[in-house]
Amino acid sequence: MQKITSLPADDSMPGWFHTSAARTPCPAHIGQKKVRFAIVGAGLTGLAAARQLALNFPHDEVVLIEAQEVGYGSAGRNAGFAIDVPHDIGAKDYIGDVTIANKILKLNTLGQNYLRQIVQDHRIECQMTESGKYQASVGKQGTAILEAYRSGLAKIGRESEMISGQDLPDHIGTSYYKQALYIPGTILLQPSALVKGLADNLPANVTLYEYTPITSIDYGDKVTLVHDKGSITADTLILANNGFASHFGFLQRRLLPTFLYGSLSRQLTEDEQARLGGKAVWGVIPAHPFGSTIRRTVDNRILVRNSFSFQPDGRPREKYLKQYLENHRKSFERRFPMLPQVDFEYTWSGAICLSENHEGFFGKLAPNVYGALCCNGLGITRGTATGKLIADMIAGEKNELIDFLTQSPGPNLTPAEPFLSIGVNSVLKWGQYRAGMEV
Ligand SMILES: Cc1cc2nc3c(=O)[nH]c(=O)nc-3n(C[C@H](O)[C@H](O)[C@H](O)COP(=O)(O)OP(=O)(O)OC[C@H]3O[C@@H](n4cnc5c(N)ncnc54)[C@H](O)[C@@H]3O)c2cc1C
Repeated sequence: MQKITSLPADDSMPGWFHTSAARTPCPAHIGQKKVRFAIVGAGLTGLAAARQLALNFPHDEVVLIEAQEVGYGSAGRNAGFAIDVPHDIGAKDYIGDVTIANKILKLNTLGQNYLRQIVQDHRIECQMTESGKYQASVGKQGTAILEAYRSGLAKIGRESEMISGQDLPDHIGTSYYKQALYIPGTILLQPSALVKGLADNLPANVTLYEYTPITSIDYGDKVTLVHDKGSITADTLILANNGFASHFGFLQRRLLPTFLYGSLSRQLTEDEQARLGGKAVWGVIPAHPFGSTIRRTVDNRILVRNSFSFQPDGRPREKYLKQYLENHRKSFERRFPMLPQVDFEYTWSGAICLSENHEGFFGKLAPNVYGALCCNGLGITRGTATGKLIADMIAGEKNELIDFLTQSPGPNLTPAEPFLSIGVNSVLKWGQYRAGMEV
């Protein structure tokens, strides 16, 4: 029996969770249960895997287990960009190898289409808006990145439009940026409302248990997942718990749980909306990957997302939350001098799972254990797509995307502690310094 050495414990003010409609969480599991399929983690990946497994095996029960409440974890804490185009930050033009980029485009498009269909079929209210994204720069360095990205996108047949700083206020209100590349295709959404809606509309043969943290696990012919009030034994397990998979004994020293920080303002008044100007809904991603992501939401709030910290145990730290709220405030004031009285109502952190070589894990971890893990910060579309595809793979399906994912080299091995933390923290600090005024 292996003890799980770290459990999720996210902080208490995730803005999207509190501003989306409240739902009654499904009861925690109590007692003993035997089932054919169990999935750990009800984020985007786990929800897609559960749905697809249930559709592929309509006569079997699929159990989906979540430590917290759906919508409270990272899947409900992100910036809400469901992105189709590749964004390989390891490549100069963010595209890199064209054959791989085309596969990633297909994968992300699959994730988008899957989500779009469920949202339409079940009328999930999650502010889904087909608005595209602005990749925006503040200085010369960022502008060079945008030019490279534009030609990279052209190589995979994707159109984009360069918008001058002078014209940008008509789009996004602020005149802070010097230039932006407008890229159609991205869907903006309210992430917590999305995953709450996905959880409430699962097929009838999925049983979701919330507030059921798995505390130990026994691997063998069958897998037994133990929690404080009982256990669940499954023929087949899917791990969809992102960076926490390493605490289940897999991919150790390959998954890098890194925290990002977000703040959401109060709703703008009509007068403030008029002073801001620009379109009603938009999303800006920084040209430099360590800069700030900014959004104006359907319900007229401003989101600021920046700052990073590396926490190998996957658990947040209060001290960073206070410190990074100041960063959010400064970033807001620089961009929105016309909104001097607008405070943040919510500030939170959330873990993404990075790998040193930007590769995720997909496939078999042990004879009866599968994983769809490590989305490298783009989990809305990628997590959804890999969750669906892992369920298809278990059902025996073969296709080019499953081949592409199973042939991926997977996350690199990293140095042992303390060298790992020293290395990752240096990269994060240096990156944020280099992002300069894009933060
Ligand atoms: C601030 C921020 C901004 C981001 N912006 C974007 C964005 O704009 N677009 C985008 O695509 N991505 C974005 N991301 C990344 C995205 O949120 C993640 O990639 C996504 O959540 C990964 O989904 P997942 O289902 O694989 O994992 P998670 O969402 O991490 O879900 C894993 C689940 O496993 C559960 N779990 C872990 N251990 C156990 C256990 N022992 N027992 C039971 N349950 C367990 C956790 O509670 C968690 O709910 C952002 C992330 C953050 C934090």
